[in-house]
Amino acid sequence: MSSIRLLPETLISQIAAGEVVDRPASVLKELLENSFDSGATEIGVTLSEGGVKQIRVVDNGSGIARDDLPMAFARHATSKIASLDDLEQVRSLGFRGEALASIASVARVGLASRSAGADRGFAIRAEGGSIGGVEPAAQPAGTAVEVDDLYYNTPARRKFLKSEATEFGHCEGVFTRAALSRPEIALSLKHNGRVVARFGPGDAAKRVEAALGEEFARSMRTVSANGVLKLSGFAGSPAYTRTNRDTQFVYVNGRFVRDKLLAHALREAYRDVLHGERHPAYVLFLEIDPRAVDVNVHPAKTEIRFRDPRAVHQFVLHAVTKGLSGAAGETPAAIATPVAEGHAVTPRAVQPALGLAQPTASYTALFADLRANLQPAPPGASAAETPPLGYALAQLYGIYILAQNREGLVLVDMHAAHERILYEKLKGALDSRAMNTQKLLIPATFHADRVDVATAEEHGMTLNQLGFDVAAISPFALAVRAVPSMLADADASLLARALLRDIREYGASRVLTERRDELLGTMACHGAVRAHRALTIPEMNALLREMEETERSGQCNHGRPTWFQMTLADLDKLFMRGR
Ligand code: ADP
Ligand code: MG
Repeated sequence: MSSIRLLPETLISQIAAGEVVDRPASVLKELLENSFDSGATEIGVTLSEGGVKQIRVVDNGSGIARDDLPMAFARHATSKIASLDDLEQVRSLGFRGEALASIASVARVGLASRSAGADRGFAIRAEGGSIGGVEPAAQPAGTAVEVDDLYYNTPARRKFLKSEATEFGHCEGVFTRAALSRPEIALSLKHNGRVVARFGPGDAAKRVEAALGEEFARSMRTVSANGVLKLSGFAGSPAYTRTNRDTQFVYVNGRFVRDKLLAHALREAYRDVLHGERHPAYVLFLEIDPRAVDVNVHPAKTEIRFRDPRAVHQFVLHAVTKGLSGAAGETPAAIATPVAEGHAVTPRAVQPALGLAQPTASYTALFADLRANLQPAPPGASAAETPPLGYALAQLYGIYILAQNREGLVLVDMHAAHERILYEKLKGALDSRAMNTQKLLIPATFHADRVDVATAEEHGMTLNQLGFDVAAISPFALAVRAVPSMLADADASLLARALLRDIREYGASRVLTERRDELLGTMACHGAVRAHRALTIPEMNALLREMEETERSGQCNHGRPTWFQMTLADLDKLFMRGR
């Protein structure tokens, strides 16, 4: 074995760069954070070739003094904290002092700056870890950072970059996240010479509208709660839902985060007002004492840890639920859940008048003979031949199938049951590489963002394996040309979107391995009969027969039961019929 040696400084930075700057978008994120920390009121971003060729960020912030310029590229050099105490209360976005050093180790970087009050600007270059001298430069107050040829010296890492469109898509995402968090800062984004976005300074609501569109802005409700914590922002009404999680923005002390705890609290808040596979949209800002949250969990700082997770969960859940309950303006129809009203039980107070005084014995006598003559649905089938789940009688509220079997009443959640059947069948088909596909007579086209289009192109093989044929028909539109035959009735574009979302989030290979069951679950959910679809009695019976033949059909893939048995004895007890 070789002897133990200290690693060269540049190599250390390159290793660190793997965590901090894994793609152009993360470089952009670091540069934007530096500009935010500098107190800038105007920031311009220019990208070329998805940010791989160049990322340039220009701000009008505090600037860097001439003598500090070389330090900006030094590892662990920061102007933002000086002690552990500072770290515990950090409010700036940066503090680790490693972004510029990491970027400079894997790209050619130029930095020009003029600090407030200085009468001229200076520039410095860094390339592959070596830092050049400080030279005078024509530069207005503020800082301009230019990152060229990302990973020019680390080809292994460069290989991991995706298409230009994908990388740009990620950069655009970072830009939008940043823009949403600071509505008072004017921001612009250019790609390959074209202006992609330009936001003037304004208030939070205006920025949300500019960045996420008018439709969301019209639907959103204001969230505002003040206590030990403070939550503000906007929650999309349940009527405005998305097929993916791309419109979910949560910030903690101004920092965009992906936090399981907060995501869970939000899912809970929407649970009763959202259906199925749809995702809510929101832009929320949590303010919390910096000492009560640890942002130093990972270099990219999108992971955080709360000192008192339960309190945060409760607070957020409560605040968003309140916001959604329509405190702002009128309640949209979707919140008033007609189904819930349908289930309303007659007030208890009325019941005793009907119930207890009834002479139950006479009822028993009255029905005793009748019961013996009750026929199962298809006349002629003898009790012994009745299949386990019996025969369908009717559909309730377009949600449940009522069936009669030997024991009594069977209640089936038709969507959940169908979902389970499809899931098992899809699994079988994928395992035996026998996914039958069906060409769509009219391809389903839908609007897609650049990343989706690029994902569909890059992962055509994976999509084929899953029974899909998805083709780009423009840089912003995809067409679904074939779907698995089992899912022929599903909304093909919803299905394709869900699939692309998973591939984007987890990568094609994980989607087919460790994520496979979740993915098949999503597909099954889309393919299963929706609530409120009227089924005929033969259709219902067919579903019951399929259930009997499907493994584990007693539970849908979310673990909820798919059917219940209510025996005659159960029913008798309900009606207090002494037998
Ligand atoms: P950090 O942001 O964690 O301090 P960076 O490597 O990102 O570390 O930046 C190093 C230092 O360079 C910062 O602490 C700051 O003093 C200075 N700096 C970088 N970008 C800017 C900017 N746009 N405006 C002013 N100062 C900047
Ligand atoms: Mg920084």
